Amino acid sequence: MQKFTRPILALPNSETRLLLHSCCAPCSGEVMEAIQASGIDYTIFFYNPNIHPHKEYLLRKDENIRFAEKHGVPFIDADYDTDNWFERAKGMEWEPERGARCTMCFDMRFERTALYAAENGFKVISSSLGISRWKNMQQINDCGHRAASAYGLAYWDYNWRKQGGSARMIEISKREQFYQQEYCGCVYSLRDTNLHRKSQGRALIKLGKLYYGVDDADTSL
Ligand code: SF4
Repeated sequence: MQKFTRPILALPNSETRLLLHSCCAPCSGEVMEAIQASGIDYTIFFYNPNIHPHKEYLLRKDENIRFAEKHGVPFIDADYDTDNWFERAKGMEWEPERGARCTMCFDMRFERTALYAAENGFKVISSSLGISRWKNMQQINDCGHRAASAYGLAYWDYNWRKQGGSARMIEISKREQFYQQEYCGCVYSLRDTNLHRKSQGRALIKLGKLYYGVDDADTSL
């Protein structure tokens, strides 16, 4: 197989610093290595009050901290303000994935990322959220641009999936033996994934069970 040479990436408006919102280690692994290879100065911003329960939140966050430390990247551990998340999700408990609840969820995470960026001298924000093929990239980009423009920032909507990005995301996850989450994150996605599994006679999700490259699990994050 031909060796992949990473392209040199450049931030919008020739900016030099990036605040990268991260949702989890598997999604941010490829994004971080792509950014790192371009010599871009960046900081990880972990703000994901959607993740439920707290045990799962810590599992995902700790994996991300481990990888950030390995790369020597600053890691901002933001609030776990679940009360605000549940307040904003009211009435959208039965929305399907990619629907209105997810727009709210992305908006909320980008709004806090943009606020931190504006308060700390970052002119560009981005996120690892869009690399997952289970998500609607346009929906994520719309939320990112909306939050960034409210603070006079740029949202970097680089397509992390292209040129084999999705495959490298899995490769890196296996190499690093990242914790493999089995649902998007919120209590409603946990419920719906389990309902789907039950309807197919499959085993329900067990938190903290699967690790890439260790367990013989499917890799469809
Ligand atoms: S399914 Fe995922 S993106 Fe949608 S609300 Fe739940 S955690 Fe957020």
